[in-house]
Amino acid sequence: KLFNEVQEAKGNIRVFCRCRPLSKEEITAGCKAVVDFEAAKDGCLAFLTGGSTKKSFKFDRVYSPKDDQADVFVDASPMVISVLDGYNVCIFAYGQTGTGKTFTMEGTEKNRGVNYRTLEQLFEIANKRKETFTYSISVSVLEVYNEQIRDLLDTSPQSSKKLEIKQAPEGYHHVPGIVEAKVESIKEVWRVLQAGSHARAVGSNNVNEHSSRSHCLLCIMVKAKNVINGECTKSKLWLVDLAGSERLAKTDVQGERLKEAQNINRSLSALGDVISALANKSGHIPYRNSKLTHLLQDSLGGDSKTLMFVQISPSDQDLGETMSSLNFATRVR
Ligand code: ADP
Ligand code: MG
Repeated sequence: KLFNEVQEAKGNIRVFCRCRPLSKEEITAGCKAVVDFEAAKDGCLAFLTGGSTKKSFKFDRVYSPKDDQADVFVDASPMVISVLDGYNVCIFAYGQTGTGKTFTMEGTEKNRGVNYRTLEQLFEIANKRKETFTYSISVSVLEVYNEQIRDLLDTSPQSSKKLEIKQAPEGYHHVPGIVEAKVESIKEVWRVLQAGSHARAVGSNNVNEHSSRSHCLLCIMVKAKNVINGECTKSKLWLVDLAGSERLAKTDVQGERLKEAQNINRSLSALGDVISALANKSGHIPYRNSKLTHLLQDSLGGDSKTLMFVQISPSDQDLGETMSSLNFATRVR
């Protein structure tokens, strides 16, 4: 596909919408699917709300529950490959808890997601290009929770280092002191990714709740050296599993939970503001309004490429959250 031509015509932001299947529990409980995939064939997604009103949203791609991990990756792959050509890229999954953000990005051992497939493809292409380029690939895994950065690959027992985002004299942003694990082959990758995801659970008494309230970020750093002319490039690919976008019930919101909820709202709306400012070619891009956007700064805007997965549930029970996710996504497009 002529990705670069399409890219030029449409700008650097893509939005893909993915709907998970109804779960067994939802089927047992009598939930109805309200997403109409017939209308989705040309990238358009329509809703049947109570069978009468229809509202439709347009995206660059729409995936139905029948589309698998490979179908999704095929469309993401041109962006991923551009990292080897020196572009910075950011891919993230947005949506209500339980809609498949982690399934899309991380996947499962048998059904690996975008993170693993990305590294697999990078190694494959790097290997094909080895006559002309030497590539060096390393990864970091970070979590942002309550506006604090945690290094998920740091295994030192009591690492209470305060991690801060700094700008290097060359202009790029980084977090001094974080682990950058060099990966030499795809064989090492799953282990490193699993280590990161296990570390996420440490210190939290409810893993699922914790992961729905924090952002998990995988950063892939690529150094390329042209063996013919010696030219070097450095680029960065962020793969982000965002905190759940759902609003908490008012009665739930007290104390620690209130602070968490405010931080999530703040960072997700900061992300929406940054992307819509970029899409509208606004002069000022408010990167500094959250740790999340500040971290991702080099890979959002400029000539970098951005892909957002809006994850949705098909269930009538979730219609309110689904609408709000789709509205968020159309705002950034
Ligand atoms: P989130 O990270 O958004 O909270 P999860 O990725 O944990 O959601 O997904 C919730 C559940 O739905 C998991 O059991 C997951 O395996 C399942 N699931 C999500 N998306 C799909 C899909 N496209 N196909 C099959 N199962 C899915
Ligand atoms: Mg998750």
